[in-house]
Amino acid sequence: MEATGEYATAKIAVWWDMKDCPIPEDYEAGQVRSSLEAAFKEQGYSGPVSITAYGDQTQTPDHILKGLSSTGVSVAHTKSESTCHFMYEDLVKWRRLNPPPATNTMMIISDEVGDKFTWDLVRLQQRTLYKLFLAYSVKPEYMVLSVSEQWCWKKLLSSSPPAAAGVQQGGAKFYCKSCSYDSGYLKKFKKHLSSYSHAREEFVNPTDHKLVRYTEDWGRNYKATPEFATAKIHVWWDLSGCPIPEGYDARQVRPSIEAAVKELGYYGPVSITAYRDHKHTPLQALSSTGVDVAHTVSDVTYSLMFNDMLEWHRNNPPQTAALIMVISDNVEIMARRLVKLLQENNYNFFLAYSFRPYKMSYLLTSAEWLWESILSGEERLLQNCSSSSGSGDGQSTSRFYCRLCVGFITISIDKFRAHLSNEEHAQEENEIREHGEYHFVNERLCQLAEYDGDHLPRATI
Ligand SMILES: [Zn+2]
Ligand SMILES: [Zn+2]
Repeated sequence: MEATGEYATAKIAVWWDMKDCPIPEDYEAGQVRSSLEAAFKEQGYSGPVSITAYGDQTQTPDHILKGLSSTGVSVAHTKSESTCHFMYEDLVKWRRLNPPPATNTMMIISDEVGDKFTWDLVRLQQRTLYKLFLAYSVKPEYMVLSVSEQWCWKKLLSSSPPAAAGVQQGGAKFYCKSCSYDSGYLKKFKKHLSSYSHAREEFVNPTDHKLVRYTEDWGRNYKATPEFATAKIHVWWDLSGCPIPEGYDARQVRPSIEAAVKELGYYGPVSITAYRDHKHTPLQALSSTGVDVAHTVSDVTYSLMFNDMLEWHRNNPPQTAALIMVISDNVEIMARRLVKLLQENNYNFFLAYSFRPYKMSYLLTSAEWLWESILSGEERLLQNCSSSSGSGDGQSTSRFYCRLCVGFITISIDKFRAHLSNEEHAQEENEIREHGEYHFVNERLCQLAEYDGDHLPRATI
């Protein structure tokens, strides 16, 4: 996609793993910068580019070090196994130095982004989105991160216009990450890398195989920022997986949720949609406080829920501050798709569940609750419920959707019940249960989520 507005001239910072993406033998190191800049310009980005090349620089020939530094590419020495660790540390530092409103762009050149960088970076990106470019020798199979542009490393290098090759540029530095050393001179840097104190430091310091997870200790419940204090909140509630616990009343749901979010400073309007097979739901109580009702069957609940979320997204453009709340023990089923929405839009995310997940998800929450604790809040007793908006004759302000029959919506409980028991609906439901493509979609999503749960790196709480 072509760059627009302030992105077109904003800074671009590049972190480059020279081991994963080396300079080809017949290629001049001095051309790397101009190749990158040419590729960026082609997409409409012409802001200043800073580049740091990471790797074991004791293995890098002098002519490459010279070629890089003379074109303003900084060079950082790391032990080979620690390269990702230091690249990521520098990237996070850069984000801190370039706070929002962030129009700057990050670029990572590495084969490890899909694996090592993802968990923490995707959480950072959900909090503050920077444009992200990616280049790789091996295309990542699995990307949770939203990427604006991506290139194959070798193809990217071939985008250099010959005339622009090797333009001299100052400002490059040499870093030794093992010793926190830096210098503006290649000679001094080389001398440092062969010094006794450097060798001693590399021996003594442990190798940092792992990336620091900066978001791991982020709290679970944040006070609302002014921007989100009055933002609207939509609640997608899996009523089948997180039912109303015994001893509570459906009329408590709305006031309880409203009270829970208000405690954190969120005063925006709350809308709620409850998903399940509603043939046997006591609808009067649920709808009397304006909770919308969506009929589904369990195989397709999450596909339909996410479709509704996309519909909601269309009405809430990317810059709108808004809150997505999900009440579910299975949010991971739609995590891959949800995380895209959360990265690419100004949405924050609330989650309530009946059981606290044993692992921290890459979905970044602004608040989390145990479902029952929302309902049991002291101030949220039934007698304090907001007044019923139902008129008692089967009408209410709630809307009743049959999400299995396209377009069915009514505000009448009686019509809704009649629909759920009519022949046409029964046929539709049977078809979906037996052969529906949705079934496949949901099953596939479940399997993907299960696989991710086992394979994606996630922090243990
Ligand atoms: Zn050193
Ligand atoms: Zn129906």
